[in-house]
Amino acid sequence: MATNRTFTMIKPDAVRNGHIGAILKMINDGGFRIVAMKYTQLSIAQAGQFYAVHSARPFYGELTSFMSSGPIVAAILEKDNAVADFRTLIGATNPVEAAEGTIRKAYATSIGENAVHGSDSDENAEIEGNFFFSGLERF
Ligand code: GDP
Repeated sequence: MATNRTFTMIKPDAVRNGHIGAILKMINDGGFRIVAMKYTQLSIAQAGQFYAVHSARPFYGELTSFMSSGPIVAAILEKDNAVADFRTLIGATNPVEAAEGTIRKAYATSIGENAVHGSDSDENAEIEGNFFFSGLERF
């Protein structure tokens, strides 16, 4: 059953480049309600755990070192059809392929440093939200 929630991170590149505010505005304008949010930094081990599904991929080392290279904004977002609608809002993994009007088109710099994360299923949204947030941190 769809939970109407998804999980996102504003990644270290977008934070470093000063895009937190602009990305949050696109998220708000897209109709998503913020359920939980925090500004934090992952250790390389935590980034490895979060992206464990990609551990066999050739870019895993690059991904975990990038994702632990600076602070991120983590959030749980709510909206009807949240997972699919947020994937539409963020655009394709590679910014060269991302549609006009998407967050990655506007702010991603490469396929690796692509500004935002968005869960790819309701199941992963739940797992990823639980990775960062307790029940007391959700509103
Ligand atoms: P997403 O669901 O659109 O984020 O894409 P994936 O689940 O396929 O990959 C997860 C993340 O790994 C991406 O958002 C990128 O940050 C990173 N990534 C994917 N492909 C590559 C790649 O070819 N090179 C590098 N360096 N990073 C990649």
